[in-house]
Order: sequence, then structure tokens, then C-alpha cells
Amino acid sequence: MPRFDKFLNPAFCANNSTSPCPNKASKANSACGRCYLVVYCSKKCQKEHWPTHKKDCNDPLAHETWKPDWHTEDRTPNFHKNQGPSEQDLNKCKMSWWGSMPALDLLKLDGNEGDDAPPKMRLLFSSSHDIRNIVETVARLPDTYSGQCEIVMNGITSAIFAQNVLLVLTAFHFPPEEAVPIMIHLWYSALIPVSLLTGLRRKLLPLIAEACSEAARKRTNQLFKWIWKKNKAVLHVELMRDEWDRLGGFLKPPSYLSAATAACNRQDVMLASNRKDNLHRFLFAQPRYWRVSTMKFWRDGILLPFGCSRKAFDTPNPLASQPLHFTPQAINKIRIFFHASRSWPMPDSADPRTSWDLVEVCTGAYTASYPAKNDLYGRLFLYIRESLLGFCRQLSKRDIKLQLLSLDSLDLPEYFNRPGEHAGFDRIETYVTAEKDVLGIDTVLNISSSMLKPKIENPMAMILVLFIRDVEEMWKKDSLDKDVARAAKYLPEPETTDYNDADLLRNRRSSSFFCNVSKLFDLYKKSAGFDALSKYELKMRGNNTIVAHWPNRPGKYASQEVFDILEASGATGCERYVEWEWA
Ligand SMILES: [Zn+2]
Ligand SMILES: [Zn+2]
Repeated sequence: MPRFDKFLNPAFCANNSTSPCPNKASKANSACGRCYLVVYCSKKCQKEHWPTHKKDCNDPLAHETWKPDWHTEDRTPNFHKNQGPSEQDLNKCKMSWWGSMPALDLLKLDGNEGDDAPPKMRLLFSSSHDIRNIVETVARLPDTYSGQCEIVMNGITSAIFAQNVLLVLTAFHFPPEEAVPIMIHLWYSALIPVSLLTGLRRKLLPLIAEACSEAARKRTNQLFKWIWKKNKAVLHVELMRDEWDRLGGFLKPPSYLSAATAACNRQDVMLASNRKDNLHRFLFAQPRYWRVSTMKFWRDGILLPFGCSRKAFDTPNPLASQPLHFTPQAINKIRIFFHASRSWPMPDSADPRTSWDLVEVCTGAYTASYPAKNDLYGRLFLYIRESLLGFCRQLSKRDIKLQLLSLDSLDLPEYFNRPGEHAGFDRIETYVTAEKDVLGIDTVLNISSSMLKPKIENPMAMILVLFIRDVEEMWKKDSLDKDVARAAKYLPEPETTDYNDADLLRNRRSSSFFCNVSKLFDLYKKSAGFDALSKYELKMRGNNTIVAHWPNRPGKYASQEVFDILEASGATGCERYVEWEWA
């Protein structure tokens, strides 16, 4: 049995408050029929656990009549008041490294090149937070494709980048069943089991030290490339010499921080009293028992099924304990800065639910056999586990080249258009860098088109661009009564017509799912000068083949379940993907 098997397949039976139930996970397949948050292996276990479980099962947040505090106290919610800068401090200067859009398969060979795929497909993620898109793309590589898949991921900040290097190194150097639980908790959990961290350090630190000693032979601080291999797969990491030196430090257990202090630091951010109205608004937009699941994760920050024991999670995740550093260039580019503090490094809005396809997480095949349907984070755990297992297994057998870089995205063309480098990418994903406050669409198409494979070599070559805030801003100027009425069909009737009525606010907010986004996007294109982009000889696809134009919209005939999931996902429906291909 692999050493970390108990973390890959934790004991699901929730009857573990005093000692863990010895029955195997597969046997714990009957959910509490009231809350559907926990599972048990037997009636006996359920009965034994009731004195503990009844607190969660009867949580007031899950009552039919629960309303946000501002509603019951009949006051204006905080998020409608102008807050002073000091009140926002805990969130303002932080960035989520989990990303805010569902992971996507950037290749989708079946609906694109199909059998005509070139023997080498090259993909570039030019500005990535984490590796989730790589995970989804590699995990879904069709068996029918026998060529090489080369993936370049360019990260944006050194601490987040270090996390990605460590995650991929883990995937490369452990068997899949051991790599997956390490990756899940290193990526998503605030506390991790000390044995996972020890195992990780024992395996990775010597590998990193070897690269460091080679890098030290370089006289100046310049980019230094190091390569690892696993069967046919190759991992190519390029860092500055001082970044190599710092890499191992990210796995150092933070000696100044106890598990209890780390948990408190996190709660200071996640449960800050001046953010209670925001939290209540978030909870109120979720199915009733999801709220209980949400609060458990917001309190303890451990990504596990609701009923699983947290006892082994005794060490602060060293990655979540690092103050994040931006390079001076990155600060100029994204106009964000960090305080070097020991506070939880992400804003309270960071939530793993936003980075995976939540409809799939709740209704798809990966989690179909898990009966606790309201255990949102348990479903996320299972979904991510399956995706990661797929990713790690592909790495063990496929011809995959992964290259991790941390360059300013403006410097990528110079890097890749060097003599001896490649002949262009088949896919380029640019995340939100095309938004007007980041690089803008003109700059993004300018640099990306110079790296795209020529049409004659691949007519399906494509640049993927995402707009989140830019389109939402257009909506804020344009909310219409008929959109509110369409959203109302899915929502409870408000009790009052009061301005602060929680149901009314919820209805108004979800009207963005039904607004005329095509019209808003046309307005946006005009204001952002899309007409002038024809100089790049690219055109916008009328029908996307990689990811839907509006992936978070419920659509005209959405079921109640799909609407509920999308509303609870935190999306607005105004998120727009554009696929650019050669004209
Ligand atoms: Zn049991
Ligand atoms: Zn229950």
C-alpha cells in the first residue's frame, strides 16, 4: 500500500470524533437523509455520531427562514456603504492563486484538428496563476493522439510560480496515488499532515539542491534551465539563479507559525467582522446546506469531505504561509502590491469552487457515486482528485513536454522568436491580460499573433482571450427590469419591497445571468476599439470550439439545479471567452 494511501482515500464515515471508523471508504455510502452533508458505513455509526452531527444538521444557516443579518436588523448592508481604505486592508492587496474561471481543456483535439493534428502540438499559457488548465488539458488528452504535446506555462509572480513548480515536481517524482493527495493539500489546504510535508521534502529537496548547485556555477544571476525526465515525459524549469536558491525554502515548515496561529490568521481574513455582510450575501445565494459546507471550509481551510477526520492536518501549509513577492516589473504591469505580512495570503473571495467546472463537480461522473450531494467541498475534493489522477497517469505514459517559465508576458515573443526556437504555438491562452486595466486587447493580440503557428501549418491555431470585469462593468450601467423578472423565476418571492430586502438584492444581483450580453459585448468592442484589430489578420470565431462564449450563463431553459449551482459559484454570467483565429 502506498504510504499516502490514507490521504488519497480518506475514511469517509463521519463517525470518527473519538476514534476513526475502521470501515473502508467504499462502504460509507449512505448519507444523512436530512442534510446530505455526511456519509456513514452503517446505521450504528450514524446513531453513534448523532450527538456530534446534530449541531451541523440543525445549523441555523440551513433553516428555510435564515436571512442575512443586515436584513433581520433592517439596516443598509456594508457593501452598499462607502468603506474607508483601512476597512478593506485585509483583502485589498491580495490575489487568489486559484484563479476565478473553471479549468479548461485548451486542446480539445476532437472538436478541432482531430485526425489531422500535427505530430507535435504546442500550447502556451502566457499568464497563468496555477496549473489547473494544464491538469485538465493533459488529463483529457485523447488516446487516439500519439504525437508529442508540448506545454509552456508562464507564471506571473515568483511565489505563486514556486507553488506551480513544486506541484509539477511532485507529479513527476511520486507515483500518481501518492502525488495526488500531496498536490491537493499543498494546493488547497491551509494545514497539511506533517507526514506529507516530510515525504515531500525528502524527495524534492535533493532534486532542487542539484539544480541549485549547477545554477551556482553561473557567474551572474541569469535564467538557468534544468530538466527532469519521467519515461517519455520531460519537465523543463527555467528560473533565475536566486529563484532556484529560494525554491527549496518554500517547503520549509514555518517555524514561527503554529497550526493554531495559522488557523487564526486565516480566520481573521475569512471571517473578518467588517466583511460579515459580504459573507452573508455569498451564503444567501447558495442552496441551504451548502452554506454549512461553506462555513466549514472557510473556518478550517482543509479541502476534504465534510465528515472526514482533520486530525492529521497539524502543520501550516508552508506555501500558504509565505508572504507573496511580486517582481517590480509585475507590480507595474498589474498594479497590485503585497504587504510582506504573515496574514493569510489570499483575499476572502478566493475559493476553489471558482476554479473548476461546478456543474460538472456537482452533477458529473467523477462524483456521481458520492451520496452526500450537499457536501460541496467533498465533491470538489473528489473531482480534483480524479482530474489529478488523470493528469499524473498521462505524465507516466505520454510524450509530454512541460516547460515552466516566469517571464514578463511582454518578453515572451523575444524569448520564443530566438533563432533555434520553435515554429509557433497551436494554442495560446492569455487569461485576463486583454482587459483594459491589464495589457489591453491590442497589446495581447500584438504579442500573441507573433507567436501563433502560421495558418498554412495549422488553420485551427487559436488565441484564447477572456474578459471578466470589462463586460461586467458594462452590465452595471445597463441592468434592466426584464432581466430581474427572468431571474425572479428561479428565486424565492421577496417579503418586502424594502431597498435592503435580502431577496430583492439577491434577485437584482442574479439578473446579470440574463442580461443581453451580446449587446453589452458589442458596446464593449466599440469602446475598446476592436475595429482597429484587423491589422493583426485575426478574426473572432463565431462559434467557439474550445470553451463556450459565455461559459457561466445558465441559458434560456436552464433547470433550477443548474441555475442554483451557477448562482452559488460566484460567477456573474458576464464572463466572455473569445477565440481568435487567422482571418
Ligand atoms: Zn462507520
Ligand atoms: Zn445531517
